[in-house]
Amino acid sequence: MHADVLVVGGGPAGIATAIAARSKGLRAVVIDSRKPPIDKACGEGLLPGAVAALHSLGVELDPGLIFPFSGFRFSDEKSSASALIPIGKACGLRRTVLHRILVDRAAEVGVSFLWGTRISRFDSCGVHANNDFISCKWLVGADGHSSSVRRFAGLEAGRRHESRFGFRRHYAVSPWTDLIEVHWGEESQVVVTPTGTGEICISLFSSDSRLRMDRALGQFPDVAKRLRGARPVSTEAGAVTSLSRARAVARGNVALVGDASCTVDGIAGQGLSLAFQQALHLADALAGGNLTLYESAHRSITRTPIRMARMLLAMNASAALRRRVLKLFAARPALFSKMISIHASASTADELKAGQIVNLGWRLLWA
Ligand SMILES: Cc1cc2nc3c(=O)[nH]c(=O)nc-3n(C[C@H](O)[C@H](O)[C@H](O)COP(=O)(O)OP(=O)(O)OC[C@H]3O[C@@H](n4cnc5c(N)ncnc54)[C@H](O)[C@@H]3O)c2cc1C
Repeated sequence: MHADVLVVGGGPAGIATAIAARSKGLRAVVIDSRKPPIDKACGEGLLPGAVAALHSLGVELDPGLIFPFSGFRFSDEKSSASALIPIGKACGLRRTVLHRILVDRAAEVGVSFLWGTRISRFDSCGVHANNDFISCKWLVGADGHSSSVRRFAGLEAGRRHESRFGFRRHYAVSPWTDLIEVHWGEESQVVVTPTGTGEICISLFSSDSRLRMDRALGQFPDVAKRLRGARPVSTEAGAVTSLSRARAVARGNVALVGDASCTVDGIAGQGLSLAFQQALHLADALAGGNLTLYESAHRSITRTPIRMARMLLAMNASAALRRRVLKLFAARPALFSKMISIHASASTADELKAGQIVNLGWRLLWA
């Protein structure tokens, strides 16, 4: 078998890359060791950047499958601030449903899949799998946070990054809000994302690998009260999350996309948005035969979300800072609106946004 583009990893980033590459006339093959529908611990929020990129991939989301949300609410035990997303559409969508939609779209444009396939050896000209050799012109690593392709290509990050743990579970309960709620506790955060008219997804983030949903919810009485009597409709799934980036996103004929290339801590809710935008740029670069274009687009797409994630993680690390910032957001809603507008903006006017974040940071520090 030969592929122009051989994508290792059939998660959202890999399938999106294959769809985009196929749409440019390239023969795309996706290999995944698992079989669909592939589930993964995720908060399941799609920000406007994700919805817009999906549209560019030819994926329109059926209103019956999603729960549109209009903004964010950040709260701790003392303060609460909410703001609307000013431009674009955002929604909650079950991860398994998103996966099925992407697989269907990929099949429609002629992507080939090798599901349940274990790779025994990587080679820059292809991979050895199931006693066969699949040759390729371009090898794309879309194999997530612990990417084997990244290791094979010598693109592991130079320095160690601190990891956190993310868990998610769904509950059968009518959403009480059309906002994504981020609740800040002493040692963990809980995010509430409505994913349907009768269902919400709760995700939990913590540095403590032993902390689980039931115990953590005890620290969030407002959320626990809402969930009283509600039936969990999925098992608790967990994943490692961190703020980290590969040494580079391309080397020779190998490119990295999605979490394999860069992860912004799950609390930022940006992973899917980044993955889909990167996929579109990567396909352009592959079609043009020039991965340098992808490297610079990747830098530009990720700069603002990385800065924003740093700010959110600083709020996790220092209780005093978090209290001060949340109190300030509650007292000055225009400031919080500004932050949400930068965070959720689908536009790639990156330099403008980077400047806005620096300004926002200064105002928070000195207010
Ligand atoms: C708790 C939590 C909450 C989050 N909430 C949000 C949110 O609300 N919104 C948002 O946008 N992002 C969120 N994220 C981030 C988001 O889930 C990720 O950014 C996204 O899943 C990245 O997609 P991916 O395709 O790059 O990687 P993955 O989804 O991890 O897919 C990688 C695929 O590669 C396959 N694979 C791995 N190794 C191999 C191999 N050797 N051979 C073949 N196949 C292989 C795996 O089976 C998998 O299918 C959250 C993350 C966490 C942990």
